[in-house]
Amino acid sequence: MHKIAVLPGDGIGPEVTAAAVRVLEKAADVFSLELSFDYFDFGGAAIDAAGEPYPEATRRGVAAADAVLLGAIGGPKWDGVPREIRPETGLLALRKDQGLFANLRPARVLEGLEDLSPLKPEIARGVDVLIVRELTGGLYFGQPRGMSEAEAWNTMRYSKPEVERVARVAFEAASKRRNKLTSVEKANVLEVGEFWRRTVEEAAKDWPGVELEHQYVDAMAMHLITRPADFDVIVTGNIFGDILSDLASVLPGSLGLLPSASLGEGTPLFEPVHGSAPDIAGRGVANPTAAILSAAMLSTYALERPEVGQAIEQAVATALRQVRTPDLGGQASTAGFTDAVVTALGG
Ligand code: ATP
Repeated sequence: MHKIAVLPGDGIGPEVTAAAVRVLEKAADVFSLELSFDYFDFGGAAIDAAGEPYPEATRRGVAAADAVLLGAIGGPKWDGVPREIRPETGLLALRKDQGLFANLRPARVLEGLEDLSPLKPEIARGVDVLIVRELTGGLYFGQPRGMSEAEAWNTMRYSKPEVERVARVAFEAASKRRNKLTSVEKANVLEVGEFWRRTVEEAAKDWPGVELEHQYVDAMAMHLITRPADFDVIVTGNIFGDILSDLASVLPGSLGLLPSASLGEGTPLFEPVHGSAPDIAGRGVANPTAAILSAAMLSTYALERPEVGQAIEQAVATALRQVRTPDLGGQASTAGFTDAVVTALGG
């Protein structure tokens, strides 16, 4: 039995997670999986119910689960609450609690949906990249850091184990995909970059089946626009990953299509990249694709059933050729689109 902690959260979060759970239930039928779903308050919903975004009951539920499926958190209602109990603070605490050091963001242009991409269709066609971003080290966390009247300073710093463990996640992901890994740094200018490159090279010895190449981050930014279909998995540090994953996220053409996973020591977390979209919440028109594709990632990375993940992705691609929600120019409701995915999953 795989225990899934469901954290619907705020805004469209509950609508899109309900869709993802329906798809997982169907996948469980088709592939004979045993799944259990336990629901917990999180984010603004938890502030309303318990006075804090990540209450103890949720914390315990997350720790006891095999995976977390999260909807979205936050919204104008909680903009005024003190920083220590903001909805986003709950997410940071969850990631820290569970030691989630690798953030995985795939960006895929599905066949027939090239017209949604801001790139020319011939460049967008076949794009299927996965950015693996180191999440807990590097420039955003390095010491010393500070600011005086006259200057300000931050430190880009990585230890060998920090690079090794994120490299392992990336090699493993590449081995489940097209066996190609691109490591990105700035080794021509930064010692950290040289160290990163050397450490990834060493880790590569354990993955002889994965082809490894290195790119400087500035060149990589250009390649992601001019020839994005040439890349499979890209691994990089915190700040470069922050920038490149936002760059890659525009390739598919809609926020509603982008899933993510955060992996590490404890319970892995799966969530759409988009926020709680308060402007459309409660209307039943949110695009559940990102949440459903997050459930596909959950199947691949937490349940270790990549064939289930692929089947869900296929079903989403089939459904998107038939019906679309308003953000993609269609008229389908969240439930209507989810019906199409469930039907396509067959069984
Ligand atoms: P956050 O800061 O939490 O990421 P945000 O306000 O920057 O939030 P979103 O909440 O993701 O961003 O919303 C940005 C826009 O995209 C909104 O107009 C929203 O309606 C739209 N949007 C986001 N997710 C979806 C979705 N799943 N389906 C349809 N539209 C969406």
